[in-house]
Amino acid sequence: MAVGKLKEAMLYEKQQDGRVFCQLCPHYCLIDKGKRGICQVRENREGLLYSLVFGHTVTQNVDGIEKKPLFHFYPGSTTYSLATAGCNFHCQYCTNWQVSQMSAEQFAEFGVEASAERIVTDALEAGCGSIAYTYVEPTIFFEYVHEIACLAHRNGLFNLFKTNGFMSQEMLEMCQCYLDAANVDLKTFRDKSYRHFGGRLQPVLDSLKFMKSLGIWLEITTVIIPGINDEPEELEDIAGFIAQELGVDTPWHITRFFPAYQMKNVPPTPLEILYQARDIGLAKGLRYVYFGNLLGQGNQDTICYNCKNVLIQRRGFELVENLMQSNQCPSCGTLIPGVGLSH
Ligand code: SF4
Repeated sequence: MAVGKLKEAMLYEKQQDGRVFCQLCPHYCLIDKGKRGICQVRENREGLLYSLVFGHTVTQNVDGIEKKPLFHFYPGSTTYSLATAGCNFHCQYCTNWQVSQMSAEQFAEFGVEASAERIVTDALEAGCGSIAYTYVEPTIFFEYVHEIACLAHRNGLFNLFKTNGFMSQEMLEMCQCYLDAANVDLKTFRDKSYRHFGGRLQPVLDSLKFMKSLGIWLEITTVIIPGINDEPEELEDIAGFIAQELGVDTPWHITRFFPAYQMKNVPPTPLEILYQARDIGLAKGLRYVYFGNLLGQGNQDTICYNCKNVLIQRRGFELVENLMQSNQCPSCGTLIPGVGLSH
C-alpha cells in the first residue's frame, strides 16, 4: 500500500513471532505483521515497525505562541507550527479531525515533503522563536519531531508541544533535552470519559507529573463540555490536581466548547459554567486562570496575583501590551512564573 516516506520507528521491540511492541505511548500496541497501531500511522512490515508520516507535513503555519495556548513562555513571540496526520486519541469533538483522523494513504496524497533542515530554515527566516508540534498529537510523529527538534535546538529555537499528554515515560526521557514547553490537555478527571476519547486518565496524570519533574514549562487546557466534564466536583478535581501536583503557578486555560465533528448536537458551554470553573480554580489556589474561546475584557490578561496589576494585556490570542520587567510585576516587584516573560 502506498504511503509517505518510511522511517524505522524509535522506541519499539521486535518479538520472536514477528510482532512488534511499540513503546511510544501508553497504548503499548503489540502489532501483527502487516498491521498498524491504534494511531494508524505506525505499521509492522516484516517484523520491523515503521512510521508512515516521517518527513512530510499536512500543515505548516506561523502562529502567535498564545494560540497554542502558551501565555507564560515568551509571550508575543511567533512559533512555526506543523503537523502530520494521525492521533492516538479519537475525540468526538476534535476540531482538527480532518488531519488527526486522516489515513496514511490520504496523507501520502496530501502531505508535503519537508526535511528537518527546511523546517528549521523556514522557522528562522520567518522570525519565529520556536517550533510547535501541534494540531494533532506530536507523540505519533515522534521520529520526525526528534530530528527537527534536535536541529532546532542547535539553531537557537525552542521546541513546544501541544499535546494530549498520552505518551510513554520512555519518550519523555528522550525529549527532555529539547522539549522546552508544553500545553497539555487535561480533558477530564474521569477515566470513563478518557476511555470514550480513546485514552486513559492515569497515564496523562503521570505524564504531567513527569514533565514537571523534567523542568518542562507546563500550561494546562481543559475544554469544558456540557454533560461530559462540567460538574463542579470534577472541575474541583482537575483544579486540585493542578494546584497540588503541578503547582499553583501553573496556568489553567478553561476553554469554551463549541459543537464540532461528531458532537454537533452538544450545545456550547454556558457562560455561567465557565465562570464557575474559574472560581473553582481560584478557590483551589491557582494564580493564573484564563478563558479560551471567550473574548471579553480581561479574559486573557495576565494579572499579578499579589497586587492585581494587569501585566500582559491580550485580546484573544493577540498580545496588546506587555508591562512585565525582568519577569517581575513593575508595580510590586512580585516574580511572575514563566520563561522569557519580558524578553
Ligand atoms: S504510538 Fe501508535 S502504535 Fe505506538 S503504542 Fe501508541 S497508538 Fe500504538
